[in-house]
Amino acid sequence: MSFRMLVGLAFLLGFWSAGRATLAQTVGGSESVSVVSNTSSEKKTEPAEPRRTRVVFIVAEGCEECDRVLSRLRRPGGDFETMIAAGWRIGSSPENHIQIVDRLNVADLVEKLSVKNFPTVACISNDEIVRAFSSGCTTPLDAWTLNWLMKGKDERPTPLQPEPVRVATTGNYPLRGNHWSVDGIWNPSKELLIQHLRGSVHSTQLASTWKIETWEHEELRSLHDNLHEHEMGGVVPSSQQLLQQQHPASSFTTARKMYGKF
Ligand SMILES: [Zn+2]
Repeated sequence: MSFRMLVGLAFLLGFWSAGRATLAQTVGGSESVSVVSNTSSEKKTEPAEPRRTRVVFIVAEGCEECDRVLSRLRRPGGDFETMIAAGWRIGSSPENHIQIVDRLNVADLVEKLSVKNFPTVACISNDEIVRAFSSGCTTPLDAWTLNWLMKGKDERPTPLQPEPVRVATTGNYPLRGNHWSVDGIWNPSKELLIQHLRGSVHSTQLASTWKIETWEHEELRSLHDNLHEHEMGGVVPSSQQLLQQQHPASSFTTARKMYGKF
């Protein structure tokens, strides 16, 4: 990663906690040294309270993919190090922005997510799943994806280097791995998606040439996510920034209302 990108990343990832700049700097200063190599060195102070909106990074015992992904994120100079320097709290307890947790410790959540593959990464807000990540849809699981999961806002500075597609696709619609939940359902069925997309909210937004009934599941999800984001006219960074600086706790709720309504 170039120095310019690093600075950009640190700035952008850090802005939302600007309202707590002192804390962010303190946290960044004290954690950036210790939190890079393994879980045991990550933040483990007793939590005051679980963070109401946080990203859960669920891993499983003996999961090679979990080890591979976490090793990449934790490598010296890697994504976690940069994020922590920008004020992110990453650790095993629920007061962190990113909680890395074994599936056995969040059995309820795993059941709710109905997942079998790990790592599973999702954003929960007030115990509700609001956003989740699907691997194999060209979007890499990196700092920018974690940033999107936490904020619901894509701040990736350059077009991403797409990863290979590992899910079924017809090629009719570009895939994305960052998904919004549909009414709290993080992995809606193809039938539900088609019904929803053909329903009153979205039917007028679909091109007449699109035969979405023939599309694959991940294409329908990607279309739906884009419709909701574009429906808003995109994100307005200035108002979002202002909002988050003034009301860091409530801004995610507002974002959810704006994006997550169906
Ligand atoms: Zn919708």
